[in-house]
Amino acid sequence: MSDRNYRIENEKYGKYDHKREELKVRGGKARTRQGGFFKSRAFLAAAVIAIYATATVMLFVLSKNLGINIKAEKEATVAQNVLGNPVYPNDYTMIRKTDEEIHDGFLTLINNENACLRDGVELVNLSESYNEAYKISDLVMQANRTTVEHMNDMFADFKKAVGDNDLIISCAYRSMALQGELYDEEIAEKGEAEGAKWVNKPGYSEHQSGYSFDLSLIDDEGGITEFDGEGIYSWIEKNCEKYGFIIRYPSDKTEETGIYHEPWHIRYVGEVHAGYMKEYDICMEEYIELIKRYRVESPLEYRDVDMNDWQIYFVPAAKSGGSTEVPVPRDKQYEISGNNIDGFIVTVKMNK
Ligand SMILES: [Zn+2]
Repeated sequence: MSDRNYRIENEKYGKYDHKREELKVRGGKARTRQGGFFKSRAFLAAAVIAIYATATVMLFVLSKNLGINIKAEKEATVAQNVLGNPVYPNDYTMIRKTDEEIHDGFLTLINNENACLRDGVELVNLSESYNEAYKISDLVMQANRTTVEHMNDMFADFKKAVGDNDLIISCAYRSMALQGELYDEEIAEKGEAEGAKWVNKPGYSEHQSGYSFDLSLIDDEGGITEFDGEGIYSWIEKNCEKYGFIIRYPSDKTEETGIYHEPWHIRYVGEVHAGYMKEYDICMEEYIELIKRYRVESPLEYRDVDMNDWQIYFVPAAKSGGSTEVPVPRDKQYEISGNNIDGFIVTVKMNK
């Protein structure tokens, strides 16, 4: 597919949908404007089914009259396909994922509606793995292994770009118990409604996953001050997606995230997804909702800034049985993450 076609695809399914259909995530449900149905795939599918059904009835009547014997099972196969039962290309194989694994991975959406059910995935001690480009406020601090590797790369490049700096990680993985203490303190100070917009309820903080960390600055007296992302530190917001990070609570997405602007709170989601969210100016709530529209038969196609081609698709969790078969390509690199709600997101690298 040409570069221009990619652009058109992305305009159509990415930016266009967000701006025009005003996708809103409230209580985990997406709302789109009325009228969108007639342009949607559901409408197309309904139209195809209607035409097919009419044709089948006509053919049946004709065959009765003319004595033609049409094989019933052949019709059934075609009808299944038209009805949307996926037909996988030959180069896919199935990986079985349990229902618990919906809550596991770098794309788990954790917010006030979706609790963090996996406490601290693949944690490493930062004191043993951080580099000289930044500091840590606590020697027992932990974070997810992949997250720390990408932090080290990002802050090393940041230091190369700006020279000496005062960056310090003030929080990374946080246990549910500590989150509870912080929440109680905030509520005591600001009241329940306001406090809840600053600190997540215990069980609902991204910090419990190990994929998030908070930046602070060391002041002249050696104390810790708030990171506002201004001045030389604006480099981080401008470049973090190249290392797989997003500013999780942007100033213009408070309604979607339910949390006020926090320039210091960074979340790892992987380079492809961070790049897409940045390019189309959408927050994680909007992105996870968007991905649900793309299936293995019609994946989201994305070309990143390094001209790598990616396919991203959603596999809804099976309604029963406790596990789901996730189609993955046999001969390409891929990653699977749960979305923490109702299924799995597969990311496929299309070029070598
Ligand atoms: Zn935070």
